[in-house]
Amino acid sequence: MLDVSSGVPFDPGDVDASRPGLWRYRAFLPVANDSSIITLGEGWTPLLEWAIDGNPVWLKLEQLFPSGSFKDRGATVLVSAANEAGVGEVVEDSSGNAGSAIAAYCARAGIACRILAPANTLESKLAQIRAYGAELVAVPGDRQATAQAAWEQAQTHYYASHVWNPLFLQGCKTFAYELCEQLDWRTPDAVVLPVGNGTLMLGAYLGLQDLLMAGVIEAMPRLIGVQSAGCAPLVAAWEGHAFDVAQVQPTVAAGIAIAAPARREQILEAVAQTGGELVAVSEDEIVAALRLLAGQGLFVEPTVAATIAGLRKVLPTLEGQTVVTALTGHGLKAAAKVWDLTGDEP
Ligand SMILES: *Cc1c(COP(=O)(O)O)cnc(C)c1O
Repeated sequence: MLDVSSGVPFDPGDVDASRPGLWRYRAFLPVANDSSIITLGEGWTPLLEWAIDGNPVWLKLEQLFPSGSFKDRGATVLVSAANEAGVGEVVEDSSGNAGSAIAAYCARAGIACRILAPANTLESKLAQIRAYGAELVAVPGDRQATAQAAWEQAQTHYYASHVWNPLFLQGCKTFAYELCEQLDWRTPDAVVLPVGNGTLMLGAYLGLQDLLMAGVIEAMPRLIGVQSAGCAPLVAAWEGHAFDVAQVQPTVAAGIAIAAPARREQILEAVAQTGGELVAVSEDEIVAALRLLAGQGLFVEPTVAATIAGLRKVLPTLEGQTVVTALTGHGLKAAAKVWDLTGDEP
């Protein structure tokens, strides 16, 4: 698996708070020239003190990104680096939010963008990709078929993949920088995150490692990953069960329904090394969490509700600890779906 780093050790003194958003960490991001930066004002998302089932937790509001999901972290850095390299056209495959993020930043950069998406992707997400002016290609079959088609096109096009392209993870590492800085460089005890392809999990891991190596934090927080029981290959591996793609069931948490995550070993290692765990949640638990959040004024897409359902399982075991989680995607991306899921009961 290919990875890169800026090669610059983290130093709080090099954070440039005069820059908006996540580009305050510009010194540690792999873009050489300011003029290359493609920004839509992303990052430095609020960290909100909250309570779930009476247990304190910090919510990082990652749904408040320009394209409506945390994927803008990766997209702003990846597209800026591609822009710097003089790339004129890119291809990316996505079941929704990553495609929207790459399409948005390519639109801003004037880079031609082709997004391959499974034919069954929510229309609201396809609408967003198309509106940004990307060329949209619907691929019949499952998510894996789309990934395969993109892999073939990547032989001749720049592959702006959120999964394979290491520049995307370089953007996602700013999640960890932000949350630790927002806690006044205190170390959280646990970070609960959704895991499909693991880009936020691995980005967080990279960022936390930078902070640890720089002596900014004293220990790695436990990284706790949440999957939908309908598609939980990493939970299966974690618990020592075999997993076959034939076991995959439909799930409303489409954003984490990844049957064969390419960075599987890296994710398992990050969880193991931090003393974390991987938990699965049922469809009923996801819908209950979606209602709970909306009833607290937080309108998120169903995938986010899966994270909170997982959080509800582990939070009682983390009493007295500083726990952070992320609301990764906005409800407006999937409003019709939320309507279907929350309509029939009070
Ligand atoms: C992409 C996405 C996830 C999962 O991220 P991975 O990198 O696949 O682990 C979770 N929530 C939302 C809203 C997403 O868009």
